[in-house]
Amino acid sequence: MMRNGKESLVLVAGGAGFIGSHLCQALVDRGHSVVCLDNLQTARPSNLRALERLPGFEFIEHDVVQPLPASVRERTDRFTQIYNLACAASPPQYQADPEHTMLTNVVGTDHLLKLAEAAGARFLLTSTSEVYGDPEMHPQRESYRGFVSCTGPRACYDEGKRAAETLTFDYARMGRAEVRVARIFNTYGPHMHPDDGRVVSNLICQALSGREITIYGDGSQTRSFCYVSDLVDGLLRLMDSESDGMEPVNLGNPNELTVNELLGHILKLTGSDAPVVHKPLPKDDPRRRRPDIGRAKARLGWEPRVPLAEGLEKTVAWFAEELDAPVRTGRGRRQWTDMPAVAASAV
Ligand code: NAD
Ligand code: UDP
Repeated sequence: MMRNGKESLVLVAGGAGFIGSHLCQALVDRGHSVVCLDNLQTARPSNLRALERLPGFEFIEHDVVQPLPASVRERTDRFTQIYNLACAASPPQYQADPEHTMLTNVVGTDHLLKLAEAAGARFLLTSTSEVYGDPEMHPQRESYRGFVSCTGPRACYDEGKRAAETLTFDYARMGRAEVRVARIFNTYGPHMHPDDGRVVSNLICQALSGREITIYGDGSQTRSFCYVSDLVDGLLRLMDSESDGMEPVNLGNPNELTVNELLGHILKLTGSDAPVVHKPLPKDDPRRRRPDIGRAKARLGWEPRVPLAEGLEKTVAWFAEELDAPVRTGRGRRQWTDMPAVAASAV
């Protein structure tokens, strides 16, 4: 695709992470030339292995808190779309350096919005269901303003994302950039970091390795899990959508289940008999979460297609191969001993 007589570019900040790597692949598959900016803080560099061989893909190691590198600034006029996914998404990881998490969301988003303004590019922010906090409205609709602590351990992320949304909509209101905001609900699939501490990766890796399975609290809290290919399809549709960008759009799978029910599915798929231990529920852990996706359906013609059983099966198979820990077969389950320690549990 061309712009001003030159090949146009799509920038993906956070493109080496779990969702970002799938998004980069989907964009390259559609014929876009992609520049991925990532500081590799929570990335699996191997996520990009296949992409790095392709001519339409370029990786630049960079922290978005810092001013954008000259290699980006000197090509400003070629950027047509900017996706901002840069930010650790797992609670233990975003809480490890809360100041950096907040700055990534605020200063990093501002740097990318300034690039969008200068380039005349469309900007998409990946916000989060965490802007609803521990919600009193269920399911969560975009009009709900949330119940968020600004002083607790999750605030660096929740409030950081809320501020990033504010900044993004202010740029749009001032006519400085055309924007889209996705509020993403829990997403899972291949390319998750095995030790990033999120529930799907933790439970699958623990089940495959035969180590203790950690359930925080009594496991009755709920989440709604979306398979990554559905989520990426939603992001692409939102970026390409011509409907009003002044309103955020929930992207997630409304299929709500308890953490205990999730564990039941994973134990069945892995054939694991690993012991289950209960750890304290982390502070401010939301009790319930489920998206209302009416707006995404109406505006983008989008809804998730991959059922949980199918998505989990693919994810388990991917982790088993990645970690050389085959699921139980007639000959018994092999132990996986090389797995790195799972990140801090209750925080
Ligand atoms: P991830 O941690 O796998 O990916 C985030 C990527 O951003 C990583 O590659 C990391 O190295 C990079 N990064 C972090 N800080 C950076 C910085 N300052 N500069 C440059 N790169 C930086 O997480 P993910 O699950 O792929 O999430 C992607 C985006 O989607 C995040 O913004 C997250 O907040 C949002 N999101 C994800 C979920 C989910 O369930 N996965 C839910 C809601 C929102
Ligand atoms: N959780 C759990 N065991 C784990 C990791 C997480 O029981 O090993 C719980 C966690 O307390 C939360 C839910 O699973 O209630 C989802 O956690 P995750 O960190 O994946 O996402 P988030 O809390 O940000 O939705």
